[in-house]
Amino acid sequence: MSDLDRNLAKLDGYLARFRDSGILNQIGGKALPAASGARFETRSPVDESLICTVARGGAEDIDAAARAAKAAFPAWRDMPATERRTILHAIADGITARAEEIALCECWDTGQALRFMSKAALRGAENFRFFADRAPAARDGQSLPSPTLMNLTTRVPIGPVGVITPWNTPFMLSTWKIAPALAAGCTVVHKPAEFSPLTARILMEIAEEAGLPPGVWNLVNGMGEDAGRALTEHPAIRAIAFVGESKTGSMIMKQGADTLKRVHFELGGKNPVVVFDDADLDRALDAAIFMIFSLNGERCTSSSRLLVQDTIADDFEARLIRRINTLRVGHPLDPATEIGPLIHKTHFDKVTSYFDIARQDGATIAAGGARQGKTGWFVKPTLFTGATQDMRIAQEEIFGPVLTALRFKTEDEALEIANGTQYGLTGYVWTNDLSRALRFTHQMEAGMIWVNSENVRHLPTPFGGVKASGIGRDGGDWSFDFYMEQKHIGLALGHHPIPRLGA
Ligand code: NAD
Repeated sequence: MSDLDRNLAKLDGYLARFRDSGILNQIGGKALPAASGARFETRSPVDESLICTVARGGAEDIDAAARAAKAAFPAWRDMPATERRTILHAIADGITARAEEIALCECWDTGQALRFMSKAALRGAENFRFFADRAPAARDGQSLPSPTLMNLTTRVPIGPVGVITPWNTPFMLSTWKIAPALAAGCTVVHKPAEFSPLTARILMEIAEEAGLPPGVWNLVNGMGEDAGRALTEHPAIRAIAFVGESKTGSMIMKQGADTLKRVHFELGGKNPVVVFDDADLDRALDAAIFMIFSLNGERCTSSSRLLVQDTIADDFEARLIRRINTLRVGHPLDPATEIGPLIHKTHFDKVTSYFDIARQDGATIAAGGARQGKTGWFVKPTLFTGATQDMRIAQEEIFGPVLTALRFKTEDEALEIANGTQYGLTGYVWTNDLSRALRFTHQMEAGMIWVNSENVRHLPTPFGGVKASGIGRDGGDWSFDFYMEQKHIGLALGHHPIPRLGA
């Protein structure tokens, strides 16, 4: 039996329970169908086969979930943080125990390759442990004495929050948003992406089995335009943590305006990897390939624009083409696979439409540029060369295994191209000139920059983007800043003079 067959057999076992009942919502500790009885289907991008049906929640279900989150909030807020810490560690234990199930389901639901997803569950567990350990200190504040007052600050959880997540790495991103919310003392209504509902349900079950009280974490599946929208408009929901496209973020900001929602947005990117001719070119090549072709290129932090200095461009591009043509596109459950199918036909159509756009704009398709196979949403890893800054392939987020290469002569030109999009999530700079690295990163418009490295996430550091790539930061204490309110308390030290009006 091959590894692939073994994984398929295991997956079949894990999915069996979803086939009869489908995926249900979870509201106030109860597994429920949608109030309307509506369902939608989730299908695998590998072969379009039906995985199961999913409760299609709407405004009524969101209202029930928001009320449950509101009712559960005071007790969860007031629970000693050390007890919350214990529950969050128990959730991490549960994730680790079900890591294989999570990985296989995630791959089948999203098309992501197992070689990357096998670690996603463990990263998710790590997110819970990281914020669990910080929970006891989350409320700590400062003492800021003045001559007349002892001024104290403290932080309190903001209240029930809405979490809306995308389909690209749904499990990891859900843990990334929900773990700090719970650690801070907030209750949650989670609306996962409609294209990838499987692991959100598993995660929710793990949480309640680990001892999370009913109503602290509610799950409502459904479409963005109804369930998602209703969540952003609900008056009991104090804040929305959103990960997804920039244009959806803009819609959410409008939808949340009437109820004055606090928002945290992690949005799109068109991230540059800038390779100067003095760099370690072997490592730069490895990193550039990894950062655009891992996770099917469906990765917000992907290096989707290669900016290469003209003195080395011919050679660098030639080496790149050879490597791209040997990338292994295949079944996501095959451990050898490096690139799986794209999530859905809609997204496949979007990604492949850029092949014609590239041709029309005058770029060259130097590798790939076509579908792979006849079944499933597989795309050949693609490289566009000869691109210029004004082309759509150099400006728009394609979100697939597609790299646009641009050339530059000088450092100033590189900077102008790097900063010349609406986005500003990540940047990658390859140079061995220390002063140039400092100069360049200082002027780069991006929330996160790595020098001589691929994206290596370190949980205490701030994660987020500038410009159309986001508002706010995750990680370390920044997550608590979003999920908590600062409070100031001033205590008089004595009898300072109080203005006596009307005396
Ligand atoms: P999307 O914006 O289409 O959907 C994301 C979520 O928003 C889904 O759950 C969807 O149902 C919901 N939604 C859609 N319309 C809504 C509305 N009007 N109101 C409320 N909710 C609504 O994004 P996607 O296609 O699922 O994900 C891909 C995008 O996510 C890419 O742009 C990618 O760069 C971005 N992303 C960003 C980060 C980051 O950290 N910056 C991480 C991962 C993905």
